[in-house]
Amino acid sequence: MVMLQIVPVPAFSDNYLWLVHDQESGETAVVDPGDAQPVLEEAAKRGWTIGQVWNTHWHPDHTGGNLTIRKATGARISGPAAENIPGRDVALSEGDEVRLGSHVGRVVEVPGHTLGHIALIFDDERVAFVGDTLFAMGCGRLFEGTPEQMYRSLQLLTGLAEDTRLYCAHEYTLSNALFAAHELPGDAPIEHRLAEVKRLREEGKMTVPTTVAKERETNPFVRATNMDEFARLRKAKDSFRS
Ligand code: ZN
Ligand code: FE
Repeated sequence: MVMLQIVPVPAFSDNYLWLVHDQESGETAVVDPGDAQPVLEEAAKRGWTIGQVWNTHWHPDHTGGNLTIRKATGARISGPAAENIPGRDVALSEGDEVRLGSHVGRVVEVPGHTLGHIALIFDDERVAFVGDTLFAMGCGRLFEGTPEQMYRSLQLLTGLAEDTRLYCAHEYTLSNALFAAHELPGDAPIEHRLAEVKRLREEGKMTVPTTVAKERETNPFVRATNMDEFARLRKAKDSFRS
């Protein structure tokens, strides 16, 4: 199978909007377009036409470009059934699928950051779009869900094959790494990754996508062995200033 081409489009201060292109069919989708213009420009530059919008949750930094993109391209908009998604054509629930050419992504519900948040998992490609649920060395804030929901959602995502690449929607890794090192001082994998992340950011480079293997090893929220530990960490991170 020809692999999917996945291209980051940076937007706002720290968002990544992901363009997904299938060479075989020539089809293109965009994940979480909070803004339309940078996405339309990047697609045009590559000669791609956006046929689908896939949203992971309703927050405006993930859906703000939906209507403009549809107006410009006629793209079909798919998003979580349980949330208010601008222009949604297709409502996605657990067990549903999205398709790009012959590539199939399954929909899983990952509540916590928002209640209807979904992730899209392309098992054969070892790719998952996780929105604001899991970040490199961190996880999303609990705006709507409970710690228990988020803990389960993270376990689900890091239960995927360990070489799965996790495409999250924000560049939060340095702040997450500093928090991880603060909580687990002297932890070798965390110290090592913190140094790597510092170097990458100083060079102006991205630190995502991450992988399931890296998160199992260095994400304190994933490593939390029970729900109480997770809840304490999440609360501490809310007020942590690096
Ligand atoms: Zn969000
Ligand atoms: Fe966001």
